[in-house]
Amino acid sequence: MSDFCEETYRKLMLSSIGSLHGIGVKRAEAFSRLGVYTVGDLLRHFPRAYQNRGNVRLLSQGIEGESCSYYLTVATQPRSATLKNRKVITKFRAFDESGSVEIVYFNARFLENSFRVGESHRFWGKIVRSGSKVTMTAPLHEFCLDLTDLPDFTPIYPLGGGLSQGLITEAIDAVLVRLDACGVPEILPKRFRQERALPSAREAYRMIHRPTSREEIEKARRYFSAEELYLFSLGLATTKNRKRSGTPPRMGKTDLTPFVECLGFPLTKAQQRSIREIYHDMIDADCPMSRLLSGDVGSGKTAVAAAALYLAMKNGYQAAFMAPTEILAAQHYDSLRTMMEGFGFRVALLLGSTPASRKKEIRRALAEGSLDLLIGTHSLITEDTVFARPGLVITDEQHRFGVSQRAGLGRTSPDGETPHVLVMSATPIPRTLALILYGELSLSMLDELPPGRKRVDTFVVDERYRARLNAFIAKQVAEGGQVYVVCPTVEAKEEEMEGDLIAFTPDGRAEMNFERPKLASAVELSRRLAEEVFPNLSIGLIHGKMKGSEKEAVMQRFAAAEIDVLVSTTVIEVGVNVPNASLMIVENAERFGLAQLHQLRGRVGRGSRKAYCVLVASGGGELAEKRLSVMKNTYDGYKIAEYDLELRGPGDYFPSRTGSARQHGHFGVTLSADMDTLKYAMTMAEETVRLDPTLAGEENRFAALSMRSLMAADERAMQ
Ligand code: ADP
Ligand code: MG
Repeated sequence: MSDFCEETYRKLMLSSIGSLHGIGVKRAEAFSRLGVYTVGDLLRHFPRAYQNRGNVRLLSQGIEGESCSYYLTVATQPRSATLKNRKVITKFRAFDESGSVEIVYFNARFLENSFRVGESHRFWGKIVRSGSKVTMTAPLHEFCLDLTDLPDFTPIYPLGGGLSQGLITEAIDAVLVRLDACGVPEILPKRFRQERALPSAREAYRMIHRPTSREEIEKARRYFSAEELYLFSLGLATTKNRKRSGTPPRMGKTDLTPFVECLGFPLTKAQQRSIREIYHDMIDADCPMSRLLSGDVGSGKTAVAAAALYLAMKNGYQAAFMAPTEILAAQHYDSLRTMMEGFGFRVALLLGSTPASRKKEIRRALAEGSLDLLIGTHSLITEDTVFARPGLVITDEQHRFGVSQRAGLGRTSPDGETPHVLVMSATPIPRTLALILYGELSLSMLDELPPGRKRVDTFVVDERYRARLNAFIAKQVAEGGQVYVVCPTVEAKEEEMEGDLIAFTPDGRAEMNFERPKLASAVELSRRLAEEVFPNLSIGLIHGKMKGSEKEAVMQRFAAAEIDVLVSTTVIEVGVNVPNASLMIVENAERFGLAQLHQLRGRVGRGSRKAYCVLVASGGGELAEKRLSVMKNTYDGYKIAEYDLELRGPGDYFPSRTGSARQHGHFGVTLSADMDTLKYAMTMAEETVRLDPTLAGEENRFAALSMRSLMAADERAMQ
């Protein structure tokens, strides 16, 4: 790193994407829709696949119907004409040593300026022969100097409105060149790279964007996976090191009988055990509690959380209950409010959509001590919320780990006490993983379901069952039930590429011609169901891009049975409770983690109705089939999670820079992570923090910076 120029590098990474040549306001806006704002973001905009254009032929050898590459010289200037059907046709001729071809594009008049007579380009497409005439329609094209070889692997980037592969490729090329001038700081310790045979950061960026071989693609992917795990581990290691010390809130022996009597059901053994553990931590404590409550879907975590809240408030303390989404926060509020108010506690709900004046009022009441329990979303409660007498903070996490939230939890109060902290995980976490990731917390596991829970019969089907599936939906609704249909994406995706594609399998291998089935999109499917399939049913739509208040309204209508079929993305994954829902359909089920599918399945069968889960899978290969068959046979969330961890690695449990895109088939760096690399990264991170606790050392400075921005991104993703 001797030739590393930090100032230039940082300036470059932070400069806006609009500072690049050829990117104006409009294109910058298109980039922003992909989450790319800065040059640094662009460098991290990884290809979702690579097209193998290494199969080069002469025109005379071209086989009809087969896509391959031709290196051609432009012979005539492109000319456009408007056809009767108002289509614009643009044509020109090009040749190689073996013959010539007519190249045709439709509705692409702008291409007139992309080709000049005498230039060489690599065209990728199919030729058609009729008599002696050879034509090629809408081939992909790349300019090349002379007729020299271009790399075999052409990256295919996730696109957004108005951006083309060519444009993104050019922009990234420009950035890669500028990196040569300033160098790239290393994030991973040298020993890490050596022992794991990983390239330097600079090389890794080159390999991921401009690989020359399949081995390089996989190597780059291993690098970025390791980097992400290392940064995550660093975040964890620094949090762990900040051991929670301090004076715990003073809470004395408390009779829980009134609480238990109010529940209306006897607690399960596992619930009793967990409550005992919490009681033991909170009452007459030596130090503030730090405990993880993990439990399967429906295992009754809320009742355990409520017991802890009751303990804190009975002792005159205030409590906070934080949920990852507004829907969940509102649901916790609904289920806890009546009971807690019955005990005389004052309860409030704080959401992003809460009117500003009400927010102010709530915050004032909290600071004055005239409010006992505040329920809301993570972001709202952590930011500038002052409690007069904080005694307990409960945080309900999604299956991503909010390391950053945990770090900020349970800050010491004005009178010098540090509140108890209870972290609830919304999914059962395999014990092995819990010990690594939540090492600093004590663990309570709810490994038992309340009695009388019926199992949700599960089927794995493919497209051929579509008609029968629709009939099944109709039947469920006719019998008074309600249906969820979960899709992996919100809106229909960009162009699909054909030909030799190297893409990533769900378990992270780079595979040739890996079949990527079209992903069902919630918007499109809900339209189709409403207009074509079930014009007489009420079809609802909910997805993560909707505003909190809109989602809330849809959920309420579904809960009130005004919606028969709710088409959604995984926003309904966690915690949502509509007891009348009897059928869960998951489209492109091969795309989801098993733990996630199990969670989705847990949305039905919550009432008296017999419930079903149908997993619609297309492609994904043998591994996907094997994984899904587990869902048919197993209902134990812990077993499912352990199994998925073995097969798929711990990637599903991580926050990701690409947000939800990971599960939806984009690059998904951590997807290729395995337990072994995670353990290794964790050891290395602990070593780093031991030697340099503040990460101020020259060799750790950039890792520290990246780690903090990763954590900030995680926090944003949770809102
Ligand atoms: P989760 O662990 O998924 O958050 P909940 O706390 O939402 O589960 O509980 C799921 C449902 O089970 C709720 O309707 C709750 O009232 C009910 N429940 C919880 N504990 C018991 C129990 N011991 N016996 C019967 N029903 C229970
Ligand atoms: Mg819950």
